[in-house]
Amino acid sequence: MTGANFLLEIEDKKILIDCGLTQGFKLADDINWDPFPYNAKEVDILFLTHAHVDHLGRVPKLIHEGFRGKIYSTKPTKSLALLMLEDTAEILGKNTDLGLDKIYTIENIKLSFSLWEGLEYHQKIKITENLEVTFLNAGHILGSAMVLFVYNGKSVLFTGDLGNSPSPILPDTEKVTNVEYLIMESVYGDRNHESKDDRRKFLEETIEDNYKRKGTLIIPTFSLERSQELLFELNALVENNRIPVMPIFLDSPLAIRLTEVFKQFKSYFNDRAQKAMSHDKYLFNFPGLHNTLKSEESKMIGNVPNPKIVIAGSGMSTGGRVVHHERHYLPDPNNTLLLTGYQTVGAPGRLIQEGVKTVRISGEDVVVRAHIVTITGYSGHRDSDGLLNFVEDMQDTVKKVFVVMGEPKSAMFLVQKLRDNLGIDARAPEQGESVSLVC
Ligand SMILES: [Zn+2]
Repeated sequence: MTGANFLLEIEDKKILIDCGLTQGFKLADDINWDPFPYNAKEVDILFLTHAHVDHLGRVPKLIHEGFRGKIYSTKPTKSLALLMLEDTAEILGKNTDLGLDKIYTIENIKLSFSLWEGLEYHQKIKITENLEVTFLNAGHILGSAMVLFVYNGKSVLFTGDLGNSPSPILPDTEKVTNVEYLIMESVYGDRNHESKDDRRKFLEETIEDNYKRKGTLIIPTFSLERSQELLFELNALVENNRIPVMPIFLDSPLAIRLTEVFKQFKSYFNDRAQKAMSHDKYLFNFPGLHNTLKSEESKMIGNVPNPKIVIAGSGMSTGGRVVHHERHYLPDPNNTLLLTGYQTVGAPGRLIQEGVKTVRISGEDVVVRAHIVTITGYSGHRDSDGLLNFVEDMQDTVKKVFVVMGEPKSAMFLVQKLRDNLGIDARAPEQGESVSLVC
């Protein structure tokens, strides 16, 4: 995932939208440590769309390089960001070769939070006499927002990441109509997801199949949002007796901590989730669930007899506790690996999804004999048709669409589709390119 980072200059203000880390196979990708193409000390404001690391992971670097302006995000994003940045610092702060131990410090994270204000959706902030900014609900993860700039009556919208609505937990992505310039994501610009109606059914069937084979079901998952969505779904399946009771392990300290933040922001959930909570106040807890915070507890999972389910990070099998489980369980045909999230090109998760018989995981060749199942209905990103529909709502006003944040193939496909289907002036800008907008 490319690290999002946009600079908007309006009047004498320098405004950043997101400051993310590029995440490939390894978090410490060299591209992240190039100097910013602007002077961090001169930036007045940073708006953060959401708490994923590819949108805020370089905030400590910005602070390190002298940024002392104001940071705005939604309130849930601020709470989630603390855990995400601490987790990133724990990994990157060990890297002395690149000097990251000086950048990813607790002091830099603390300093960023002293500049940080959490806002509600739709709360207007006046930056200058002519410029007003608002967060709109993007429906992608808890607290995720689009950033709407209104300058002299003209609108510029940065989408951040757009949700694959309806989500099990979150309200739908807000409909936006009156926009002149749109800067939009395109992670799934060239692909459509399977129907969302079937996703819980597929999940149920995958669990039942694995139960019958007396296997271990491994679900590599992103700690933020996907883990909580899966807990929400499993909660519903268990409470409604749709699946047999068996041990289910949430084997990710970060996911366990983030789930506690979700519990504090229940008012940001959609009506269905709020309604479910009125009968079941322990929405992320149910019989059979074990949160394995400590590594000794994680190691004990291997001793628990099958059938069982293990949810663990990282989502693309590039590290984290899931790699230990994969090395142990992938060679056995009775086990199942369930992929529910985006797999970047070349990541072990992507190779497994593509059907390789042997995969290199954390320096070890692992034979893949387990069942491999992909359910795309849980994707947190809008698919190709969904992105097109989003732009269709603003078709009458939009002058130009800049397609960003996808693999080149995906971005180009969406550009072509916007031109062909909607007749819209769309393009995918190059990294580092500057564009003037007429407002
Ligand atoms: Zn995201």
